[in-house]
Parts: sequence; C-alpha cells; structure tokens
Amino acid sequence: MYHEDYFFAEVLSAGHLTPSMIRVRLQVEDHGRYQASDHADEWVRLAFSPGGGLPVTLPQQRDGRWGRFDGSPSCPNRPYTVRRWDGSTGEMTVDLVAHEGGVAASWATHARAGDVIGLCNPEGRYEPPADAQWILLLTDITGLPAVGRILEEMPDAVTVIVHVEVPAPADEQDLSSDAALSLTWHHTHGHAAGRDGPTQLHAIARSIDMLPDGPGYIYIAGEARAASAARKHFRDTLGFDKTRIDAVGYWVEGQARV
Ligand SMILES: Cc1cc2nc3c(=O)[nH]c(=O)nc-3n(C[C@H](O)[C@H](O)[C@H](O)COP(=O)(O)OP(=O)(O)OC[C@H]3O[C@@H](n4cnc5c(N)ncnc54)[C@H](O)[C@@H]3O)c2cc1C
Repeated sequence: MYHEDYFFAEVLSAGHLTPSMIRVRLQVEDHGRYQASDHADEWVRLAFSPGGGLPVTLPQQRDGRWGRFDGSPSCPNRPYTVRRWDGSTGEMTVDLVAHEGGVAASWATHARAGDVIGLCNPEGRYEPPADAQWILLLTDITGLPAVGRILEEMPDAVTVIVHVEVPAPADEQDLSSDAALSLTWHHTHGHAAGRDGPTQLHAIARSIDMLPDGPGYIYIAGEARAASAARKHFRDTLGFDKTRIDAVGYWVEGQARV
C-alpha cells in the first residue's frame, strides 16, 4: 500500500550523461522514513520552487491528513523514475530528458550541487506475472531510466527483448543485465522531416509482428498517445492478453505533466 510522505533532497551533482539526458544525484533528507516500493520502475514526483525566488516547501501532516496548513504555495512537481536508490546512505539518482520547455527539464539544465528540491515516496507499475518466461520492454527515451533499472534487477532465467527509442546514437547507454537480452536502439525520437510526431514508438510497436512462445509480459512507457497505440497493437493485432501488458503514458505531447 502506498505510504504518503515528503522529503527535501539536495543536489550532490548534476550533468549530462548523454546529449539528451541529464543525470542528477540527490541526497534525500531523513531518508530513514523513505519507503521504496517493490517495483523496478518506481518513480517519485520531484517538486520545484513555485517561482518568484521562493524556496520549495513540502506539504505537512495534521491529524493524519496532508495539506498546506501553513499557507505555503503548492510547488510544481513532475514524475521521474528512481534510477538508483541506496537506502543505507539516502542517495538517489534520477535521469531527466533535456527537452525544450517544462519546469523539470529547465530545472535539470541549470541544476547545481547544493540546490534543494522536494520529493515523495515512490510508487511503481512494473509487475511481470510470476509465470512470465519472456519480457518485452518498449520505451522512448523517457523510459530509458526505467529500462536500465529493470534490466539491472532482472533475474537471469528470463528472456528480455528491449526496444528503446532515443534521438541519436550518442544517446545510447550501456545497459547491463544477467538476463538473456536482445536490445535494439531506434534513432527516431524527436521531430524530423517525414515523421508524424515527436516519437515513433507506435511504429516501432507495429514493426513487431511476432512474440515469443509461452507466457510473457509487455511493459510500454513513453508519450501517452504512442504508448496507448502500442498497447492496442499487441492486444488487438497480435491478440496478446491485455492483462499481461502495462502501458504507462510518461508524457503528453503539447501538455504539461501536472
Ligand atoms: C511514471 C513516470 C516516470 C517518468 N520517468 C521519467 C524519467 O525517469 N526521466 C524523464 O526524463 N522523464 C520521465 N517521465 C516523464 C516526465 O515526467 C515528463 O516528460 C514531464 O512532462 C517532464 O516535465 P517538464 O516540467 O520538463 O515538462 P512539462 O511542463 O510537463 O511539459 C512542457 C512541454 O514539454 C513537452 N514535453 C514533456 N516531456 C517531454 C519530452 N520528454 N520530450 C519532448 N517534449 C516533452 C510537453 O508535451 C509540453 O508541451 C516519467 C513520467 C512518468 C509518468
């Protein structure tokens, strides 16, 4: 069960991991209270300054309810995957896509050691059925942190097929796993002549016309409409059991992820 709680976190370091991805290492305050979930794709909401030079503040708990009883302004917040978590030290790593516009992306671009943000306890969705013999991970670049962590935590008896969409070869990352891994990078992320939008995740899904035999599990993460179209392909065209698919809309083209 989700346990609501909020924390301050101080930036230890921030910088480009690849041209399109900024890695931020955070020290979470009072991390003894932080409750990791059991999901390898777990995410927190990062909270930023409400603007006007005001510091980030956290909701408070009163009589078992959370609210802003001190009248502090609410802070813009966005979901980000916990790429790494060390419960013994309270150090957290998050990887943020450096896209145009957006509170979180702009914050990441200018983040410096000592900056303070807020975050909450994590939650997650990735949950392969116990009998899954193979797993298909299909994401755009926003799902790459989840893919990285899922692969690192994957048991070696499983076959994993991974398709990740990034803007360019320089955005590929070294992904390690004990599992039998088939990894394909697609360099189709972003607007370009001949493309029908900022992501081709739906087209990548449609290019998969066969799934392995035996019980499996499909995890999809990326732009919301593309992720939904990808899910539809596996469910309706390939006839795959929809209860074994988790498709998460990570961002919405043209809309803030509030
Ligand atoms: C469960 C979950 C986990 C996530 N994990 C990660 C993660 O680990 N790393 C990560 O980078 N993102 C992750 N995201 C996606 C991230 O929360 C969104 O991209 C979010 O919109 C970014 O906030 P922002 O303030 O930068 O932009 P917003 O204010 O939300 O949006 C402003 C504008 O930017 C556009 N936009 C938003 N994101 C992108 C993008 N990636 N590329 C191009 N345009 C964009 C919007 O369409 C909008 O027009 C995750 C989302 C979810 C739901």
